[in-house]
Amino acid sequence: MSVLVMKFGGTSVATLDRIHRAAKRVAVEVAKGHEVIVIVSAMAGKTNELVGWVGETSPMYDAREYDAVTSSGENVTAGLMALRLQEMDVPARSWQGWQVPVQTTSAHGAARILDIPPENIRAKFAEGMKVAVIAGFQGVSPEGRITTLGRGGSDTTAVAFAAAFEAERCDIYTDVDGIYTTDPRICEKARKLDRIAFEEMLELASLGAKVLQTRSVELAMRYKVKLRVLSSFEEQSDEAGTLVCDEEEIMESNVVAGVAYSRDEAKMTLISVADRPGIASAIFGALADAGVNVDMIVQNISEEGRTDMTFSCPNDQVMRAEKAVEAARERGDIRFNDLVTDTGVAKVSVVGIGMRSHTGVAADMFKALSAEGINIKVITTSEIKISVLIDRKYMELAVQALHDAFGLDKAA
Ligand code: ASP
Ligand code: MG
Repeated sequence: MSVLVMKFGGTSVATLDRIHRAAKRVAVEVAKGHEVIVIVSAMAGKTNELVGWVGETSPMYDAREYDAVTSSGENVTAGLMALRLQEMDVPARSWQGWQVPVQTTSAHGAARILDIPPENIRAKFAEGMKVAVIAGFQGVSPEGRITTLGRGGSDTTAVAFAAAFEAERCDIYTDVDGIYTTDPRICEKARKLDRIAFEEMLELASLGAKVLQTRSVELAMRYKVKLRVLSSFEEQSDEAGTLVCDEEEIMESNVVAGVAYSRDEAKMTLISVADRPGIASAIFGALADAGVNVDMIVQNISEEGRTDMTFSCPNDQVMRAEKAVEAARERGDIRFNDLVTDTGVAKVSVVGIGMRSHTGVAADMFKALSAEGINIKVITTSEIKISVLIDRKYMELAVQALHDAFGLDKAA
């Protein structure tokens, strides 16, 4: 029998009534002959509340107890979902992570799934159980302690189960009806995509499109799990939502699949550092040790043995970055004339696997920005992505201009 994984996010299980509606969707799939693994999040807002309670009780909390507390929201929804299904005469039971067991690393608060032995659940399916309801976001460490997978982690739980059970598909029910060419809140011409390639989704997710946890997309790509993102608030057909899949399964696509942005970026430049072996290592080693998430890096051509080094990081890490760099200077690890910080920038990126085979995408991008009089401060590229840093006040305009320039309002 074929296994289907259905994941319901926090808004889709926010009330008893919504759990009821989600359970009805599960029952439809059972009636079609599927064995179903349901992954649930905590009720919307619950995890935030639990995280808050931990911080109020113990500011320098023990991460193992943080996980004990924050994982509990999912236990409630898993039990309620199983009860609701039983009320509908669908044979179901709930499982917490440790019961499966979802084996993870010991990195509390950000654990990685190591293995999901399928035997226990398979045995129950063999006995006639139709639905296994799994508390998402949680697992158990080799030491036997409860772990969590990081915020948004139940997406990753869902994909990991789909891989472990070789599921036909992994349906992610959420409060949006799919993946869009860009954020519909800032670009009214944004269009829902029928399909998007894993690699494009990975770039969009890591660039800040928050529909799926980035790690869930990595995992889906590695195990070729077909992922579908769809709304739990609308009537569904088999074609609903967006399918995240292998690029071979996409017949025609635009060269650029989507435009992403990240609003709160900062640009920092170390003016006139010595241009010698080890200098980048000293700067970025100090930043890494301080936990700064460096994103773009640009090193200028050197003149007379001196160069400028520019990098970007999230705006709220600027103080930490400044401290780390100053401390490295005081230790004598690096020398520079000045540190210039610009906290008013945003990053805008175009993403598409078509860029591998099409030339001129960067030129088109820069032309569209210049037509709007937008100055580019930093540029970086990868095989399927071009990112620019610009003044934050032009961010929306840039997204709209690029959406138009690459014709994203129309399907290929
Ligand atoms: N409840 C967890 C969170 O809010 C996990 C999830 O919903 O994916 O981060
Ligand atoms: Mg989520």
